[in-house]
Amino acid sequence: MSKKIWIDMCHGCGEDRGAVSIANEEIESDKLTALVVPMLRQLGYIVNATRPTGNYTEEGSCYKRAELANNWGADIFVSIHNNAGGGIGAEAYTFNGEKTATAKRYLEYILSHGGKTHDGTLKHNTVDGAIKPHNGLIVIRETNMEAILLENFYVDTKEDYNFFKANINMFACAIVYAITGVDLGKKQISNNNNEVKVDMKTIVLYFGDMDANAAIYVAQKNQCPMMKKCDFDVSGLKVEKIIQIGGKFGSTRYDSLKDAGKLV
Ligand SMILES: [Zn+2]
Repeated sequence: MSKKIWIDMCHGCGEDRGAVSIANEEIESDKLTALVVPMLRQLGYIVNATRPTGNYTEEGSCYKRAELANNWGADIFVSIHNNAGGGIGAEAYTFNGEKTATAKRYLEYILSHGGKTHDGTLKHNTVDGAIKPHNGLIVIRETNMEAILLENFYVDTKEDYNFFKANINMFACAIVYAITGVDLGKKQISNNNNEVKVDMKTIVLYFGDMDANAAIYVAQKNQCPMMKKCDFDVSGLKVEKIIQIGGKFGSTRYDSLKDAGKLV
């Protein structure tokens, strides 16, 4: 009964670019995707996480995304974005703003783990208020299956970015919980008050953004999450085994890829 999940990696193709401010929308979404995909596979789901390649216009990129997921026969389409425009908190877009179980689980999870939702009524931190209609979104309108677009945090709000950075594993668990109803964080939450500590056995750490591609291969091979080393250093996460990609003196991203090739 394996469910086919399409993870749409935001922007990053032709003229379709993500927001760049204090944080970079594309890079943060990719980090999150790299955590979410192995978790879903671990649960037995078939996952395709990708973005179109080619010199598309913004509109063309969006139509292509829907087409790829339709052709693949996905059961659910999940687009992972980050917000811009000044605000705080997560929101979810669905067709007609339908309060789907997927959208509710995503926002409830974040709220119950110390996060915020961006409520259209400006009351803030409600679940229903942060599920919004946006039928102009091509990826939501043109996909044949259930489709949801997630905005995790605001790349131009420092407070929101700091929370996301410190809690990226919680956001990954929120997305997995939204899609599957399985709470992968639950068993691993320490009794450390409200703070969530996801204990992972193995993690891939990469040094520069240029090493991220190599890290994705190794993380997928090991079915483990990956993170930028400097983020890991301040995250407080505990792991048994660290696989390091890049960071050798005088090495380039091609050296990182070669090193990664030996690991997969
Ligand atoms: Zn976006």
